[in-house]
Amino acid sequence: MADGIKPQPGILDIALYKGGDASLDGVSNVLKLSSNENPYGASDAAKEAFSRAVHTLHRYPSTDHASLRKAISDVWGVDAHRVFCGVGSGDVLKLLSEAYAGPGDEVVFTEHGFSMYPIYARACGATPVVVPERERVIDVDAILAACGDKTRLVYIANPANPTGTMLGAAEVTRLADGLPPQALLVLDGAYAEYVEGFDAGKSLVDTHANVVMTRTFSKIYGLGGMRVGWGYASQDIIDVLNRIRGPFNLSSAALAAAEAAVRDTEYTEKCRVENARLREWMATALAELGVPSDTSTANFVLARFADETEADACDEALRKAGIIVRKVAGYKLPHCLRITVGDESACRRVVHAVAQFKGAVK
Ligand SMILES: *Cc1c(COP(=O)(O)O)cnc(C)c1O
Repeated sequence: MADGIKPQPGILDIALYKGGDASLDGVSNVLKLSSNENPYGASDAAKEAFSRAVHTLHRYPSTDHASLRKAISDVWGVDAHRVFCGVGSGDVLKLLSEAYAGPGDEVVFTEHGFSMYPIYARACGATPVVVPERERVIDVDAILAACGDKTRLVYIANPANPTGTMLGAAEVTRLADGLPPQALLVLDGAYAEYVEGFDAGKSLVDTHANVVMTRTFSKIYGLGGMRVGWGYASQDIIDVLNRIRGPFNLSSAALAAAEAAVRDTEYTEKCRVENARLREWMATALAELGVPSDTSTANFVLARFADETEADACDEALRKAGIIVRKVAGYKLPHCLRITVGDESACRRVVHAVAQFKGAVK
């Protein structure tokens, strides 16, 4: 390697992100519950829109995403001019740190926060600052105490991943109000649609110039493979993000599928209701087997075991049963496993396998 060629500071400190495993050696009929995907897939309307896109593959896609932003505005009551569309919400989250943080700046997130946040911080040369939580719930006072002159960005997910817990609106407002003037609060709403009637910070964005909300099509909309997300913020912030994104960042197929998906509110609601029902059922059944969890507000359950040894052994037993869940030792939760809420048969399969592991059935 040429001696003089060096990446920007921070980049070589990044540990590669590891996605959820998708296959097991020698096992067919694998049940993947490691990436919080929608078990029912995308809505038929989204699939049809994707198919129609085949006829215009030779055309460049829309660069202003106007049609998708209009659909998002119609469904979520946000101002279409202040919606920004990115290549998954991860893209939006990353562009925010690129635009607002750099060497010498601090980016704040919590100890069980989404593992991409430290990557976004380091990628732009900023210093990650990790704040403790209180019993797997984000602690607003601890975040505020960690903020200072150098803080440029605070990332929180609400509902949070992998804990599944939530902060109430009053707490989020207190956080936004208490930040130093140069710090942006980023509310990652990847799981917002799973919470009935939740605005995910939309009204806070409307009243606070220091708040950004991000959302994704990868979770309830079942379009993880399409890579579409969006952000909502003040016009100034949206104008900044539009300057640094790729002009054709979203493909025509992705735009069409996302637009149809967000407009299919009936399907979204059906997915939300089914998820809530099965999440409750699975969490209760696991608790009865001696595997408790915090009340989850998302499409997964963070199952707690006695210790790391038991969690690892259960993970191994689930793998033998063809079920892939997510180990979360990297999130400082070595005694836990994050289990996506699948469809009904998936949830039954999980509970049966955990029951066998616990010796509750032969
Ligand atoms: C899944 C997830 C995202 C979504 O990422 P995409 O890039 O939109 O697929 C963002 N934040 C959190 C906390 C997530 O769990």
